[in-house]
Amino acid sequence: MAVIARLKGSLIDEMIQHAREEAPNECCGLLASKDGDIIAIHRAKNAEASPYRFSIDAKEQLRIQDEMDEAGTDWAGFYHSHTGSPAVPSPTDIRQMSTFFGPPYVHFVIGIKDPENPEVRVWYIEDGDKIEHEYETID
Ligand SMILES: [Zn+2]
Repeated sequence: MAVIARLKGSLIDEMIQHAREEAPNECCGLLASKDGDIIAIHRAKNAEASPYRFSIDAKEQLRIQDEMDEAGTDWAGFYHSHTGSPAVPSPTDIRQMSTFFGPPYVHFVIGIKDPENPEVRVWYIEDGDKIEHEYETID
């Protein structure tokens, strides 16, 4: 495992908060970085509105990427939540999103199956396989 993401600690709380608000459906969003550090999250609508899967409408994704351009940030990856299973990318996640989960894009999965003990894990998907890595918080 290597550190593949450095992010503001408050963003962890923001992602968990988003997951809790959308539960039992999955939440999702994009991560924005500046100078290599993830400094903001952009919430997106889960077009599937499902507890088992997520997708982001292509138009919404482009709109968020435009917002990042305007803010002078770069698109660094995604996050989504798992509300009934561990914070591990599912076979569906891997199939649907593999091109966007791989390097350089990082992918956070927020597990809130146990609401009192949220799980936050970061992944790359490479060659159809999921590889767990580490993140570091900064402030
Ligand atoms: Zn998933």
